[in-house]
Amino acid sequence: MVSQVDGSMIVVSNRLPLVVEKIGDEWQIGPAAGGLVTALEPVMRRVNGLWIGWPGSAAKAAPYAELFERFAEQHGYRLAGVPLTEEDVELYYQGFSNETIWPLFHDLLGRTKFELATWQRYQQVNEKFAVAIVDQLLDDQLIWVHDYQLALVGAQLRALGVRNRLAYFLHIPFPSFDLFRRLPWKKKMLDGLLQYDLLGFQTLRDRRNFVASVRELYPQVTADIRRRVTYLDFGNRQVTVGNFPISIDFEEFNQGARQQQVADEAWYLHEHYQGRQLFLGVDRLDYTKGISKRLLAFERALEKYPDLCRQATLIQVVVPSRAQVPEYISLKEELDRLVGRINARFSEHGWVPIHYLYRSLDRTQLLAHYRSCEIALISPLRDGMNLVAKEFCAASIEENGVLILSEFAGASAQLGQHALLVNPFDIEGTADTIWQAFSMDEEERRQRMRQLRSEVRRNNVDRWVEQFMIAVRPQLEDLY
Ligand code: UDP
Repeated sequence: MVSQVDGSMIVVSNRLPLVVEKIGDEWQIGPAAGGLVTALEPVMRRVNGLWIGWPGSAAKAAPYAELFERFAEQHGYRLAGVPLTEEDVELYYQGFSNETIWPLFHDLLGRTKFELATWQRYQQVNEKFAVAIVDQLLDDQLIWVHDYQLALVGAQLRALGVRNRLAYFLHIPFPSFDLFRRLPWKKKMLDGLLQYDLLGFQTLRDRRNFVASVRELYPQVTADIRRRVTYLDFGNRQVTVGNFPISIDFEEFNQGARQQQVADEAWYLHEHYQGRQLFLGVDRLDYTKGISKRLLAFERALEKYPDLCRQATLIQVVVPSRAQVPEYISLKEELDRLVGRINARFSEHGWVPIHYLYRSLDRTQLLAHYRSCEIALISPLRDGMNLVAKEFCAASIEENGVLILSEFAGASAQLGQHALLVNPFDIEGTADTIWQAFSMDEEERRQRMRQLRSEVRRNNVDRWVEQFMIAVRPQLEDLY
């Protein structure tokens, strides 16, 4: 362990917050896009923090020491890499993380694989991360570990003798005990999680699910439930469990949507789709996002409410993701087929019901879509939070957008009162809600959107970091 005083926080996540690329003979670095990076950058800069993670496999030969130094100069905080082998990536990342925890924690038991080899590699890679942390660690640093790929890092750190304060935030849902208990290694997983001092979840439901699982497996535990957190008392130690809904930088989207370039692109979209209301879906390619059911609901709406024909278009953006995993390849094929079938069935000259974009949009294009589409159709089967829902509201500067939101998205806990909630498994009900949104009058749209925007503005991402920091170290309150 290093002993001189330095930054007071280490953040650990599966991926480092940078993208490395070779352009010609030059290695280029750029910041990775994403909510977590935006959320944590300011605090990391303030405390000259250190971020530890896997740099990705794209650029194995990159001169990382030099690139990390360049990154630190540009961004004001430091990076350290955890190299992973191809086998690690296959078994720990694609295997246990994405084929066991991901589907199980999103309530999709039928898609969940239980394989001893991937579980073993998951533990080993979590240990690799722990060793990399110990190499960099100072005495009183806070270690904040993120997400489902790294649940056991805390336990591995304890096994290595680390006594620092350990915090963990789970970005995806935590399932009910009935689902969690199917995991053959559930006790080991909970034992591991309970080595952290603070466990953060997205919603109250996730926190309750977690506490219920702990109570089932540790009957001796006492739980002191407060408004913000639950204290689990194991006699010799106490673990704090809280819910902290992650959010976005409201002003970044609110101001971003007002830029001239965005206005120009939004105008172009309006011209192109003149006289129509636009529905918007924006999702990573993932079976949890409920894209197929959404397309079926849109089809049912066209069938049931013929006034939608020629007057409504769904723009569905699907961002490529996990492209090597067979299940994602077949999901892509399913979507291609569905869009083709629905468009062939309903298209008329001059109108196509679904515009399907299989690519990611840059920030200007994304903002232009948020700004010019009247109705966001966000219907995941299950989602930890869903930032797109919050971004749509923040960018809806004309305040006339309508948010259709799945009741199974974490965001529904905060936005459900003023959004139109749907059960994505209910195709008929979702079709009716599509019609309700389409025919909603201006006044009601405005009233709802104003409330949604003020909710997102109030509970922005700074508040997320702040609440988490206060829970982990009450004395840090002074920093904010
Ligand atoms: N996003 C993006 N480019 C796109 C579409 C989406 O950068 O073309 C971003 C979007 O702004 C949002 C994130 O991807 O911040 C998706 O986050 P969300 O919580 O909705 O879902 P996740 O993909 O994390 O499950």
